[in-house]
Amino acid sequence: MSGPSLLEELSLLAQRPLRAALGAMLQRLAASERLPAAELERQQRARLTALLQHARRTVPFYARHPERFEELPLLTRRDLQEHAEALESREVAPAHAAVRSAHTSGSTGAPVTVKLGRAQEHLLQALTLRDHGWHQRDLTLTAAALRADPQLGTVTRWSLHPRGGRLLSLPVDTPLDEQLAWLQRAAPSYVVTYANNALGLVERAEALGVALPGLRELGTFGEVLPPDLRRRAREVWGAPVVDAYSCCELGFIALQCPEHEHYHVQAENVWVELLREDGSPCAVGETGRVVVTPLHAFAMPLLRYDLGDYATRGGPCPTGLGLPVLERVVGRSRHLITLPSGQRLWPRFGSNVLGKLAPLRQLRLVQHSLERFVLEVVAPPLGAELEARVLGAAEELLGGEVTLTLEYRDDIPRSASGKYEDCVSLLPAHHSQ
Ligand SMILES: [Zn+2]
Repeated sequence: MSGPSLLEELSLLAQRPLRAALGAMLQRLAASERLPAAELERQQRARLTALLQHARRTVPFYARHPERFEELPLLTRRDLQEHAEALESREVAPAHAAVRSAHTSGSTGAPVTVKLGRAQEHLLQALTLRDHGWHQRDLTLTAAALRADPQLGTVTRWSLHPRGGRLLSLPVDTPLDEQLAWLQRAAPSYVVTYANNALGLVERAEALGVALPGLRELGTFGEVLPPDLRRRAREVWGAPVVDAYSCCELGFIALQCPEHEHYHVQAENVWVELLREDGSPCAVGETGRVVVTPLHAFAMPLLRYDLGDYATRGGPCPTGLGLPVLERVVGRSRHLITLPSGQRLWPRFGSNVLGKLAPLRQLRLVQHSLERFVLEVVAPPLGAELEARVLGAAEELLGGEVTLTLEYRDDIPRSASGKYEDCVSLLPAHHSQ
C-alpha cells in the first residue's frame, strides 16, 4: 500500500534521532490499521478510561463530572469559549505538554483556542504520512496549497527527502482567476484546498480552458464535498479528488480510504461517536451528530466534543482496514436548513445548479426564520424573468415548501475561517452551536 517514496521517507526518519519516534509511530499505525475492529475499539476504550481519570483528577472543568464516559454531557463550542482556562490540565507529563495553540472561529464569531500536546503533534505528523502512503503520493513532486492564512509566497518542503518536493502556498482569498494563473505557473502535481474553493477553481478552469497537465490529485479538506466535485475534477483536470475530514481543534478525524470514496476514522487519534437526536448511537447507514474525543489530548482534554457536524456511519471496508468507516460527511448543523414541516436538509446550491440558469458570480442561501429565506446573489441585474426562474429552481431544491426572495450583493464574504458557505441557517437552534 505504501508507495516507494514513503518507504524512503520512513528510512530517513529512522536515521534521525529526533525523528525516530515519528518513524516508529508510523510503523505502529501501519499495524494498528489492520487490527480487527473489536481489538481497535478495546484499545481506544482503554485510552478513554485513562484520559477520563486524568481529566477528573487534574482538569478543574471535569472535577465533578461522572466517572462513566457514556454519562458525560456533550462538550459544546460555547463551553470551549467560556471555560478554556478551566479545561487545561494542571498536571501534564512532559510527553503531553502543550506545544501549540490552535485557533478557530465559531459561527458566533467568538474564537476558540485549543492547546495541543507534544504527543498529539507527533501523531498528527504521522497521520499526514499515513495519508501520503494511502494515496501513494510521490514526495519528490511539487504541491500547492490554497489555504486561509499562509504566509504569502512561502516555499517550504513537504518531505524530508533530499529531493523533497516543494510546497508552494497562496492565501485562499486570492481571486479565483489569480489562483488559476498561479497554479498554471506553479504546475503542481498535487493541489490542496477547501472543497468549495476546489469547485470554484474547477468551474473557472473549465470556463477559461485552463489545463493542469501534471496534476495527479486534487486534495480537499475543511468543508463538505460538493456533490459534483469528484466528477468535474476528473472531467476538467483528469485528476481524482482525495478528501480529508479534519478540524482545527484536533486535526485529522477521518481520511479518505485508499481505494474507496468513504472515510476511515483515525482511531489512533480520536474516538468518534455518531449519535441520533436522542443520544443513542447510530446503526450502519444512519446519519447522526459527530461527537469526538481526541485520545491524546492530555494538556486540554476535550471529552465528547460536539463538532456540529453530521455524518453517515458505514459498514466494514472491503480493503480489510479495521478503522471505522464514515460513508459520508453530510453537513454542518450551521448549514442545516429546517423547513416549516420540520423536515431538515442540507441543500447544495452550488453554482452548478443555479449557475446554469443565470450568470451568478456568487450565491448564498440564508434562512432567517422558519419561513423566511433569502437567496443572496452577486450578479449583473438579471431582469424579472430570469430572477423568477432562479427563484423557482431554488424553491424546487427546497421542496417547494417556502418562498424565497432574491437580493443582490456586491460581494458575499467568506466566513471567519476563510471558507465560502453556500447555505447558512440563522435559526437560534443552529446559532448555539
Ligand atoms: Zn475503506
